[in-house]
Amino acid sequence: MQALVWTAAENMEYMDSLDRPAPGEDEVLIRVEAVGICGSEIEGYLGHNSLRVPPLVMGHEFCGRIVELGNRAAGLSVGQKTVVNPLRHCGTCAACRKGNTQLCAVRRIVGIHRPGAFGEYVAVPAASVVPVPESLDPFRAALAEPLACSLRATRRAMQRHSFANVVVFGAGGIGILCAKTAKLLGAERVIMLDTQDERLNMAAEVAADATINPRSADIREAIGRIAGEKGVDVVIDAAGFQPTRTAAMSIVNAGGTVMNIGLGIDDTVLPINAQIRGEIELLGSFCYNEQDFRDAVDLLINGSVTEEGWTEIRPLSAGGDAFRDLVGGRVKSGKIFLAVGGEQA
Ligand SMILES: [Zn+2]
Ligand SMILES: [Zn+2]
Repeated sequence: MQALVWTAAENMEYMDSLDRPAPGEDEVLIRVEAVGICGSEIEGYLGHNSLRVPPLVMGHEFCGRIVELGNRAAGLSVGQKTVVNPLRHCGTCAACRKGNTQLCAVRRIVGIHRPGAFGEYVAVPAASVVPVPESLDPFRAALAEPLACSLRATRRAMQRHSFANVVVFGAGGIGILCAKTAKLLGAERVIMLDTQDERLNMAAEVAADATINPRSADIREAIGRIAGEKGVDVVIDAAGFQPTRTAAMSIVNAGGTVMNIGLGIDDTVLPINAQIRGEIELLGSFCYNEQDFRDAVDLLINGSVTEEGWTEIRPLSAGGDAFRDLVGGRVKSGKIFLAVGGEQA
């Protein structure tokens, strides 16, 4: 089969004679139709992520069709269109026992710990399969995983702040999906910040009520003008660098919430005394639980969230160039999907 194989730091190779994976007893084989490139995979591609070990077929945001069932894969059928929750948890560790399955001590992710969907076929646990309606566009369906991440972060950030003004740092895929979710959850105004004007223009079309480029405007002054006396109760940082983390603390209202979801840098200096005196809630969010994933799928099926106007599709064979363009900052859309296969094998 054809696949995009990460063979070493900054090296993606398109190969056309890989063995088709064989599904285990509790697994199914899926023929991939659409797969998204995740920001974390760019870090992996650069060799910055110790969990990913080459050679590896990445890809954890995907939609396809079941083509083969393991002996004990009950309740599913060949031909079904499906998305896959790529995160498996053990169910017995301390985190799982508390219901925090996304924090499982031994979590396993398709495309990280086992081969993923940057190829024509991927084998996955049958329990990870979430069938979707035939009418759902496969590229829209491939947003289920990043939407689940964004939805979890946004609803936790807004839990105490109905109808808040919400600021989102970063107009990439996660930022856009957080902004869309914030509107669905009742945000009054969603203000997006990014240093690229093209991305801000796109964000203004599909998700944001207002945009600010911190390179050409004073953030506090601009936000004050947009948010007014009510101010900003929720800040979602989908970038995660020192300037965005510093700015988040300086613009959020006393009693407000800062949600960190962007993993830009490890260590950051923050004004913790201001956080104490302002009773600012400082949260982090990672991945999603099963309900977050199901809710994301439902939002895509009912059309509340779509890929229209902020994503682009390239062929799998051009995947190497897509990664180079992402690293080089040459991608103007919020997400690249790769189109896989086409011919029935
Ligand atoms: Zn992802
Ligand atoms: Zn566990």
